[in-house]
Order: sequence, then C-alpha cells, then structure tokens
Amino acid sequence: MPTELMFREDPYLAVTSARVVAVTDRGIELDRTIFYPQGGGQQGDAGSIVRASGERIPIADTRKGDAFDSVLHISAQPPSTSMLEPGEVVSLELDWNRRYALMRLHTALHVMSCVVVAPVTGGNIAPDKARLDFDIDMSALDAERIARETNALIARGVATETVWITDAELDARPELVKTMSVQPPRGGGRVRLLKIPGIDLQPCGGTHVKNIGEIGGIRVLKIRSEGKRNRRVEIALA
Ligand SMILES: [Zn+2]
Repeated sequence: MPTELMFREDPYLAVTSARVVAVTDRGIELDRTIFYPQGGGQQGDAGSIVRASGERIPIADTRKGDAFDSVLHISAQPPSTSMLEPGEVVSLELDWNRRYALMRLHTALHVMSCVVVAPVTGGNIAPDKARLDFDIDMSALDAERIARETNALIARGVATETVWITDAELDARPELVKTMSVQPPRGGGRVRLLKIPGIDLQPCGGTHVKNIGEIGGIRVLKIRSEGKRNRRVEIALA
C-alpha cells in the first residue's frame, strides 16, 4: 500500500506520528512518513521510530518498496527483534542535521548544473559531499570558476517552487531532462519539477531548501575524469 509522503508537502517536517502497517525482513512500512527513500541520487534518511513506551528503534536507511510510493524504513537492528505491531501508533524522528545537509547539497547541485552546462551522466548526494558527472571536456571545467559562479547564483537568495506536470507535458519538453542517468520520477501520471525561478527548472523527486540562500555557499572538492563521458565535479558546503 502506498505510504503518504509527507516530505513532498513539507521537507522541513522533522517529527511526526504514523501508524505501523507492516514489519517484514525488508523493513518497516508506515501509513505515512517524513523519511525520504533513497532515489534520484539522494541518500535515504536516517533517524528513529519511537514507541509509546519510549523504546527507540534506530532507522539506518530508507528505501523504496516494490509498490508505487511504498517506503521501507530499515532498522539498524533486524526488525524481527522489534516488538512493533501493525496498527501501532509511533513517533517518527528524522536525523535532521543529516537531512538538512542533504537538502542544501541537493539544491546546490541544481544550481551548479546551470553553471556547468552539459549533459549530466550521473550524480550522488551524501550528507558530507555531493557530485555530478558531466559529458564534457575536462578543459571546460575550472573549479575556481564553478565555485564562484555557483556561489553568485546562491547569493541571489531566490525561493524554490514545486511544479507538477503530466507525463505527456514532460515528453513534449525533453529539454527539461538534463540528467541522462536518472529518469524523472514517473509512475503516477505526473512528474514533479523543482523550479528555481530565473535559474533552473528540472524534474526532481528529492527534498530541497525553501530558499537557495539556505545553501550558504559551496566549495569544489575535486574535479576528475571517471571516463570519457563522466567528468566528475564534487562539492561540499562552504
Ligand atoms: Zn534533484
């Protein structure tokens, strides 16, 4: 059964309650969640599920389940050892510092993708660093310029927006898809876009900051070749 994805409406929600739907070897399913499941290059969330008794179940990772919009909360301990019962109401607590770093870095990659204008062949967002791979000549990548121009855009401090379009509208505008390796998050007949007015518009199911000013700034950690079509630019928060 689909899980209500509360991070879509409010990515700043760090605590909420939910009802246990199922506990299996693969993970804990809830009727709703603030935990983002790994996808679109962004790592899955960590945190805790807290029972009414106060017992804490550490969640080490979050993944998508097989069904559309289903989410598996993966306990640091095997779920069979927990006493969670279907129907039980629990509290969810996100590791907020970790998630907020992921949000700032994810939005930073969207901004950077407007400074390095080339097809994106890969990407990853971890709490301490993030990267995009581009199909571009190494000679076109200058760390100092990328950092300076990305930070200049971040300093504009524009508010981000979520826009939904239909699959058909996306098909009619293929130029929106910069990322060749990560397919837009389809499946429900509509696709979510992140709009950074005046800077960027692209399909993305990830969690983002409300205003790009929250990124603060970035630094380029390294630029290296990972193959002919993969020139990797790795960044961290400044
Ligand atoms: Zn994204």
